Amino acid sequence: MKDGWGRDINYMRISVTDRCNLRCIYCMPEEGIKKKQHEDILRYEDILKIVKCCAKLGINKIRLTGGEPLIVKDIDKLIYEISKIDGIEDIGITTNGILLKDMAKDLKKCGLKRVNISLDTLKEEKFKKITRKGNLKNVLEAIEECLRIGLSPVKINTVLIRGLNDDEIEDIMNLTIRYPLDVRFIELMPIGEGEKYYKDGFISSEEIIRNHKNLFPIGRKRGETAENYKLPDSIGKIGLISPLSCKFCDSCNRIRLTSAGTIKPCLHSEREYSIREYLNSEEMLLAAIKNSIINKPKEHYLEENEKSFSKKMMFQIGG
Ligand code: SAM
Ligand code: SF4
Repeated sequence: MKDGWGRDINYMRISVTDRCNLRCIYCMPEEGIKKKQHEDILRYEDILKIVKCCAKLGINKIRLTGGEPLIVKDIDKLIYEISKIDGIEDIGITTNGILLKDMAKDLKKCGLKRVNISLDTLKEEKFKKITRKGNLKNVLEAIEECLRIGLSPVKINTVLIRGLNDDEIEDIMNLTIRYPLDVRFIELMPIGEGEKYYKDGFISSEEIIRNHKNLFPIGRKRGETAENYKLPDSIGKIGLISPLSCKFCDSCNRIRLTSAGTIKPCLHSEREYSIREYLNSEEMLLAAIKNSIINKPKEHYLEENEKSFSKKMMFQIGG
């Protein structure tokens, strides 16, 4: 359906948990987060009810995210059930990749089509420093496995921070020469822990283009957040995601469902609509979701006012 500004909304990102097996320094506090009570998070049955309603309203694309979606029990069954819902054409997942290698084949069988894997460095020690916990090897092997079994596309999400991983921009870009990967550089957002690194660490997409003259533009598809580029002789693509320096609100086609059961029509707005109280009536649930879509904000004003950021952390919203 169309939102109040005439944009076609066909994509929902679902944060299935705000827990994670890593503690990336720009995302989660080292001590982790307070565990939510069971009754405070949506159950699978609830998520399925909500997705069914959303599909009736024209949402055909779903992405599961978190926190870390792959630590959630029976995530494969959830993917399978979502894939059977009339109208759902595409299911993706955004993951840190730590557990993915052994799960990828089964998830694909259950209906997973595409995967975004977060990877900020190709150096083992730095990986430990950034994630505070993980093993780089697990992620690299997961990427190879996803390509091997034909998940498509396989995208790599890289958040750049000056002084931390900006020395690796070229090496990460060069992955697209050897592999059919979409490598996307995401501008750091001053959300939650990201705020600590923002002032000195922010690197704009514009700076990347300025410093890499061999990148040539190949455009942006409707609803896509990334401006796409290629390196000569590469088989993959490079995307630049610039929520701050070049916002894409005009073509935004998405809403977000949080694990607490609220719809967040804009990542960067405080506005949320609780829908869990309507789970027992399809009619009321449909009306509540419609209301949240109609009221999706026209745009965000982050570039003018950093204080207008959502107070929620990235691991609560799902990125
Ligand atoms: N755990 C999964 C993962 O890391 O892919 C999914 C959730 S994570 C919140 C989704 C994406 O948000 C990741 O690619 C992560 O790098 C990104 N992210 C987290 N905090 C961020 C921040 N402050 N600015 C920009 N991106 C951020
Ligand atoms: Fe976990 Fe993803 Fe946040 Fe890293 S970015 S702490 S993997 S939720």
